[in-house]
Amino acid sequence: MQIHSRLKKLELFLFIIIFLFLFRSDSKKIDLLTFRVVLDPGHGGLSLVPKAKHGDRYDLISKKYLSYYSQGTKYGKIEERIITYEIAEKVKNILDLTLEDYTFKKFREIINKYTNDNPERIIIRSILSRRKSSDTGSLNSEDPNADFRLFDYVDKHGNKKHGRISFINSYKPHLVVSLHCDFQAPVFHRGINPVISAPHSLLYRGLNYLKGNEKSRKFFFNSPYADWFAESVNKTGYRWFLKDVSSYFTGLPVEDRIDIEDKFTGYIYNMVSWKYGDNSGWENTARNHPKKTQYAANPKDFCLQGKFWEREQSIYESYRRDGGIEGFGGDNLYASSEIIRYILLSFYQSGNIYPRQKPGKPYISVWSLPILVNAINAYIELGYLKNKKDRYVLTDKQDEIAEGIAVGIYCLFAGFKPKVSEFKHLPKGKRIDLSKYKLPSGESYFDIVVP
Ligand SMILES: [Zn+2]
Repeated sequence: MQIHSRLKKLELFLFIIIFLFLFRSDSKKIDLLTFRVVLDPGHGGLSLVPKAKHGDRYDLISKKYLSYYSQGTKYGKIEERIITYEIAEKVKNILDLTLEDYTFKKFREIINKYTNDNPERIIIRSILSRRKSSDTGSLNSEDPNADFRLFDYVDKHGNKKHGRISFINSYKPHLVVSLHCDFQAPVFHRGINPVISAPHSLLYRGLNYLKGNEKSRKFFFNSPYADWFAESVNKTGYRWFLKDVSSYFTGLPVEDRIDIEDKFTGYIYNMVSWKYGDNSGWENTARNHPKKTQYAANPKDFCLQGKFWEREQSIYESYRRDGGIEGFGGDNLYASSEIIRYILLSFYQSGNIYPRQKPGKPYISVWSLPILVNAINAYIELGYLKNKKDRYVLTDKQDEIAEGIAVGIYCLFAGFKPKVSEFKHLPKGKRIDLSKYKLPSGESYFDIVVP
């Protein structure tokens, strides 16, 4: 009896100790560095007709969708939008282990597979940029693409609704990880590829070339961005570059300038709700495409004006998109490349080697998402569904892919040296210096993105 009551006392004592310990570590957590990450699985909706009802890229000038909704690629029943969602969800489950002390032990075990360093404990809060695909989640039967559009749109009651880019920015993330796969790789792009948007400084020289002020093409061919993404081989990379330069500045591809109605791709920075859109009513000025403004239809008449173009010229955008650890592509290319190297290291650690899975060349163009977020953007083509091996890896090895992505994300914020050294595609293990994104006002660039 006495022994029993002593045991009871001991139990109570232990309970108090544990309680105090938990409480202590809980209050300690306040000091831990916290980072916000958006996991952005591509697509999700359906490319339905008519475009007028189901499209994306809602343009306030014409009050119409300028493009069809992009459903993503598929091979039989294997779909990009499903694969990318499944992987993103797995990455989130791993990152959630950083949230509490008792789950972090498990995260530490994962990290220890990759490094002998003892990286600092940080917290990574992550969200997904979308729900499951429209036909697998609860269906909004009237507008199945409602939750999946990239750009803002107007519902049938005339209310403005946020698209995914506005949703991403509202979270004020430090990092956005966009996950995609494609059907088939151009010959020289095999592997796992970063997707990057070129820096404004290069695009501006392209504009000057179109204006006739820049005579030589050397600025392009001597730049690290000369390997421009060509949608097809019917024109050279330089022709594609000029076409994309023209779309980036004027919303109109150069060669198709005759018919504004059909070819206009819109002012993308006015298709999202953020700090850098033009003042309300801009569409009334823009519809006439006045010369010597940012709405000019011809590159020769284009002028850099407005908050977006000021932002494009800022030092923070050049940190995101130019120079940096990889030598070009800024922190965006470094983040993409590092995560890709961690995916490959994850395969390697599991004893699996897939020769097709290697770091691929970046796709360089003027993609919207990397331009329209303030966060560092890792944008990755994970593989190609036409290829049987890629399909196998993307469907059967999702846990390995997700672990590589999660460890890569942690390393981008905490930094640690990889344990193995004989691996061919070793991550660099350097943390991104986020202090350079601090504005003179003391605010972070990542925070000043919503109005
Ligand atoms: Zn895609």
